[in-house]
Amino acid sequence: MASFPSLLESIDDLNFTQIDVLLSRALHFKDNPQLSPFNTTPKPIIATSFLENSTRTKHSFAVAIRRLGGLYLDFNAETSSLKKGESLEETFLTLFHQGVNLCVFRSSVSHQLAQFKENPPIKLVNGGDGVNEHPTQALLDLYTLSTLTDDLKGKTISIIGDNIHSRVAHSLMKLLPQFGMKIILSGPPEYLPETSSLPKGVELLTDRDETVKRSDFIYLLRIQKERHIGNSNTDNYLETNGVSLDLLKKLKKLIPVLHPGPANIGVELDQSLIKSSLYKGYLQVENSIPMRMAIIEAMLLNNDQNIGKVNGEKF
Ligand code: ASP
Repeated sequence: MASFPSLLESIDDLNFTQIDVLLSRALHFKDNPQLSPFNTTPKPIIATSFLENSTRTKHSFAVAIRRLGGLYLDFNAETSSLKKGESLEETFLTLFHQGVNLCVFRSSVSHQLAQFKENPPIKLVNGGDGVNEHPTQALLDLYTLSTLTDDLKGKTISIIGDNIHSRVAHSLMKLLPQFGMKIILSGPPEYLPETSSLPKGVELLTDRDETVKRSDFIYLLRIQKERHIGNSNTDNYLETNGVSLDLLKKLKKLIPVLHPGPANIGVELDQSLIKSSLYKGYLQVENSIPMRMAIIEAMLLNNDQNIGKVNGEKF
């Protein structure tokens, strides 16, 4: 198995071969859901520490850990010594010395894990950091897309909505072009990045109908109100920028619609679309388990001996 990093902060931390290994291990776990590769003694202990709300990511990691035969620890950062001023590094080192092998961490602060790139105090997975990245979501989306088509190469996926505040969009932009996919970022201009900052294979389009017509897949994003300064007006958003089943019928584009969740019905999509078979949000949730099993397995098996080593003077 390709050697994996001990800190998965960004899609940039993985090379193509490693991503390919994750895809095939995810497929393997999907076909063999009862498999428990960690029937070793002692069992690995894997913690989640979420400083921001989550329904899907945290619970999918919890299920993935148990399916792998690991022990799950829900580390409650809100009631921990982080609130007494302890640094993140000391907190992670404490978890490490308690025998925790890996921690999945979510924070509303972008790039909070970057400080541990050189010397991770514990194996770490970014479960979403501010507006920066959400690499495991993008990986499970790639896996889901690969189950929906024979060939990703040359296919266009349109990410429609609040792109600028979406960490999922930021990870997808780095990941999907590696597999030959073209990306259209679409939405009202205030939700789109500068053209100059776009990676290769990514373009902007503000016309929603034109976007849908050019798409093979649609990826909807919620308006990330918690990251906006001031109030965001969502009146008429569905009519002008959202996607309904009627719109897809009118444009004759009955194509798969993905969504990382949580979905706001009546804003970025309508009730008929979310209840239709075009909607793949539940499939993404299902696929999140085998992909996160693959990620945890790869990182636990990477044989990194430097984890938890304190850099400092020795006496
Ligand atoms: N669940 C995703 C995230 O944590 C998407 C969202 O919240 O809109 O970024």
